[in-house]
Amino acid sequence: MTVSESKKLGLTSKILIGMGGGILLGLLLRNLFPENAFINDYLTEGLFEVIGTIFISSLQMLVVPLVFISLVCGTCSLSDPSKLGRLGGKTIAFYLFTTAIALTVAISFAILVQPGNASLATSAMEFNAKEAPSLADVIINIVPTNPIQAMTEGNMLQIILFAVIFGFAISHIGERGKRVAALFNDLNEVIMRVVTLIMQLAPYGVFALMAKLSLTLGMETFGSVIKYFFLVLAVLIIHALIVYPSLLKIFSGLSPIMFLRKIRDVQLFAFSTASSNATLPVTMETAEHRMGVDNKVASFTLPLGATINMDGTAIMQGVATVFIAQVFGIDLTFTDYLMVVVTATLASVGTAGVPGVGLIMLAMVLNQVGLPVEGIALIIGVDRLLDMVRTAVNVTGDTVATVVIAKSEGEFNNETFADADAGKVAESFEDQVKHPNVPNA
Ligand code: ASP
Repeated sequence: MTVSESKKLGLTSKILIGMGGGILLGLLLRNLFPENAFINDYLTEGLFEVIGTIFISSLQMLVVPLVFISLVCGTCSLSDPSKLGRLGGKTIAFYLFTTAIALTVAISFAILVQPGNASLATSAMEFNAKEAPSLADVIINIVPTNPIQAMTEGNMLQIILFAVIFGFAISHIGERGKRVAALFNDLNEVIMRVVTLIMQLAPYGVFALMAKLSLTLGMETFGSVIKYFFLVLAVLIIHALIVYPSLLKIFSGLSPIMFLRKIRDVQLFAFSTASSNATLPVTMETAEHRMGVDNKVASFTLPLGATINMDGTAIMQGVATVFIAQVFGIDLTFTDYLMVVVTATLASVGTAGVPGVGLIMLAMVLNQVGLPVEGIALIIGVDRLLDMVRTAVNVTGDTVATVVIAKSEGEFNNETFADADAGKVAESFEDQVKHPNVPNA
């Protein structure tokens, strides 16, 4: 490949190469030098750990300022309070609706395929469930007693509430408000630019994360739960490739093919970080600049989605509950299944967009239907991989909802969506500096 050809590689291809290279290198080192202390100390826990963690931290670094600034911009341009209420209502309704579909499909498949087998119950099982918060606490906690503390803790719902009130106030103080709004709009462009710069790090970050993963992932427990693993995977893929595209077509009339093409980077980031929150900067950048969603909608629906909309997580929880019931030979009634749908919807709402929390929240669902929480020990071994895939599904769901809602609110740019190259992140840092893709920059 010539230098000029390699320069033309898009970010997605670079990330894919990083991903493949990382997995290959990890597997190679693992097989050539099993249990090697040097590799463990200097690569797995050394270089790969440092680069991978820096990559995830640099994405997370942007989340709080991005959500706050972007949401203030979004709400101060929505001067009509009824519009805000309608947007909120529609968003939450759509999120709950897709989660309920995800769970229904997941549970139906689990009943049909019967992944659980009573013989698995004999393996030593121990799992200490963390206490899940009560619903009352969840509601009370939406109101921050100290917004700065909410920001330092990265408490998304509290930040959202404060930003909405702040932005709303800006839109109601006339001329002075306009000046503040202009400042926030400029800040928004700055932070979006930082996002696109940090996205350039992705191929290296993803390489390190994948190399570390393939060096450390334990495959021992894999065999016994292989049916469970592939069933969850299949339902996740069905949801991403059939359910979402159909919903997009039905509710917005837009092309699912174009959507799937443009969402790829977001899915890759989610897959590599296993965190909806860490992916949020990329999701927002893609929704606004690649898909054509207005900031007014995206700044509200996406942070909310990264916090409460977890269809992929719900799918895992639905299949896992039925699987554990089958393993322990417990028959679930129709009412139990309905209970699973309701509690798993709430559990996925309560799941934070960080790695592995979905499994902790599964304890809440199991408790609710009277299943043994120790069952979680069975599936823990394969959860890391499923976490990566379900996070990619989670962020896809947030983006589908955002596009559908933006379209229904008339806050959507059809030309941007139809243009395959719109908002493509510049290929290199130099391109980025030479050809800024920010309007009026
Ligand atoms: N890792 C998931 C996410 O960030 C949450 C989970 O299911 O554990 O979306």
